[in-house]
Amino acid sequence: MKDIKENKTVKQLIDKLEKQKMLTKDEWVQVFTGWTEDDRGYAAQKARQISEAVFGKKVYIRGIVEFSNVCRNDCYYCGIRCSNSNANRYRLTDEEILSCCDEGYGYGFRTFVLQSGEDIKAFSPERVAEIVRRIKKAHPDCAVTLSLGELERDALVLLKQAGVDRYLLRHETANKEHYRKLHPEDMSFEHRMKCLETIKELGYQTGAGMMIGSPYQTAQCLADDMVFLGSFKPHMIGIGPFLPHKDTPFRDEPKGDYELTLFVLSLCRIMLPRVLLPATTALGTIRPNGREQGVLSGANVIMPNLSPTEVRKKYMLYDGKICTEDQSSECRLCVQARMKRIGYEVEISRGDYK
Ligand code: SF4
Repeated sequence: MKDIKENKTVKQLIDKLEKQKMLTKDEWVQVFTGWTEDDRGYAAQKARQISEAVFGKKVYIRGIVEFSNVCRNDCYYCGIRCSNSNANRYRLTDEEILSCCDEGYGYGFRTFVLQSGEDIKAFSPERVAEIVRRIKKAHPDCAVTLSLGELERDALVLLKQAGVDRYLLRHETANKEHYRKLHPEDMSFEHRMKCLETIKELGYQTGAGMMIGSPYQTAQCLADDMVFLGSFKPHMIGIGPFLPHKDTPFRDEPKGDYELTLFVLSLCRIMLPRVLLPATTALGTIRPNGREQGVLSGANVIMPNLSPTEVRKKYMLYDGKICTEDQSSECRLCVQARMKRIGYEVEISRGDYK
């Protein structure tokens, strides 16, 4: 149990964050070492008020199409890392990707998120650009988000010109030593951060984010993440608990802390009131009502799966991922019902950052 003085101090820091939209690194460390469940509730209440003031009791939906689980990288935490020979690899055809979007459009999705491993050999920037042009032609009122990992500037320019609106690239950790413990030597912290800067500079609505409770993560690492997010000011932040995958070096590591994940969501909302903040699938995996609690802690986006049911189980970044058996129509209705139960409505719109 933390003493009363310490509780009060964390609340005071939350108040300061609300007023000044930033804390120092030392203050963030204090928050992450001293917080209690009571502080989390305090932050969630503020975050919910802010979210409702900006977005109303509305939640944006984005349909995710996971079009390839082939990846050239070997991140230690990821179930589709290249050295996992148990992964059952697949690639959707261009027609299959388009038909997922067509189907999604009928269910009211106005944003499509095309996501894959770093599969640049099969899905060159030129090929993805053509897919995006075709989606935009068929559905001019929709936004397209890409989440394809790190790309060079030329590729990002090409894709922007093809009409891509948003790009998600979780930074995963803003602490260089921590980054080294999560990734093999041939991956570069500097390259990832540079890539994020380029994405933002080119005018994409830019998404960063990190796992909560990834192996070796400390209060210092989380403080670095919050300082980074506060200065980079992404338009979207993807945050979910770390969940281990059985075919990775981190298979025996404990799951990330559910309450801490909710707390960080609330802190992000308080720091960046207009940020687009998903209640992630990982949050719904760690707890059956995790996404609802995410929304009640300040999240305002849900990203149901539009991938064909036959491939969903193959896009297994972590064990136990939910919604792998459902049809897209079921996911859509399920999300709507879940939001209704907590007094929120699903909004049919692109849901741009404003
Ligand atoms: S986290 Fe992304 S880049 Fe790393 S192995 Fe998985 S899919 Fe590839």
